[in-house]
Amino acid sequence: MKKTVTKLADGRELLYFDADDSVLRDSVDLRPLEPAASLSEIRRDPVTGDWVTVAAHRQGRTYHPPADECPLCPSRDGRLSEIPAPDYQVAVFENRFPSLAADAADHATGPGHPVAERAPGTGRCEVVCFTADHALSFADLSEQQARLVLDAWTDRTADLSALPDVRQVYCFENRGAEIGVTLAHPHGQIYAFPFVPPRTARALERAAEHRARTGRNLFEDLLAAERADPVRVVLAGEHWTAFVPFAARWPYEVHLYPNRRVPDLTRLTEAERAEFPGVYLELLRRFDRLFIEPGHNGQAQPTPYIAAWHQAPALDGEELALHLELFTIRRTVGKLKFLAGVESGMDAFVNDVSPERAAQRLREVAS
Ligand SMILES: [Zn+2]
Repeated sequence: MKKTVTKLADGRELLYFDADDSVLRDSVDLRPLEPAASLSEIRRDPVTGDWVTVAAHRQGRTYHPPADECPLCPSRDGRLSEIPAPDYQVAVFENRFPSLAADAADHATGPGHPVAERAPGTGRCEVVCFTADHALSFADLSEQQARLVLDAWTDRTADLSALPDVRQVYCFENRGAEIGVTLAHPHGQIYAFPFVPPRTARALERAAEHRARTGRNLFEDLLAAERADPVRVVLAGEHWTAFVPFAARWPYEVHLYPNRRVPDLTRLTEAERAEFPGVYLELLRRFDRLFIEPGHNGQAQPTPYIAAWHQAPALDGEELALHLELFTIRRTVGKLKFLAGVESGMDAFVNDVSPERAAQRLREVAS
């Protein structure tokens, strides 16, 4: 894998990841771009303890551009995009409208009141373009292409974890307009948070309680239990296991763990990295076969999903096990699950599909 680090016209970093070491990436960004300022701050909810990012400068960001103005396609035929090269394999760049940015520190607001704790929204937000082909989805990638994305996620985890103020690196993909995706081009994002996000903070508390009670790691016990009684296991490889969690919150939700506990992507072995693309692509393809529209000649509708990597935060030890959580907000053909009063108001989920039935369905749609 070859990595080339370049700069865009406004000073943001753009990185190319290529499978072929001989590729030269020296295209220059010719757009007249002014540096964009970030005014983010983070505020702590005094009641829940959760951090909230306030990024009021982002309202002007690109919203559903036509395909011929896609900012993630390569620059071709005189049309200049975020990627100056005429082609690429995987490209990663700093978001022009970031929720979190290193220069947010310049706009520091000073310490707050004890019930109004605030800090600059430092950190970094990156966009990961999975392929130059606008019309594809992640599920359409070859294993070699998916492996290159894994290598890019791993590289970014190592680099961003080393930045001052960064507590957790979060790689994720939102797929589908139903999820709120504003650019159709296949891409994901990376947030380097200056705080431990609420879901991770709760998982760390639970893992510490489990350790105190049993002397063991929560995630190892959880994976061993799912593998011992595989009623919710969807797919098991030599190095990875995918299962629907016991208390799934979403209609179709799968958690994918390496069988050997590691804290983050940088600690996977070559054998684990080699098996991941096949397993993950199969899961995504199964997701796309879940909902067959009766009126569309048996054609499945692409499933909107969120794919979220959970990694152990810097400074918090290695109790949290690396895993990927993949879930859809669609509960049946043409029907979405909305987060309404119970979920949004109380953080208490009601799931209309039993986890065991969801696992069975995800095995039925195997390739
Ligand atoms: Zn595009």
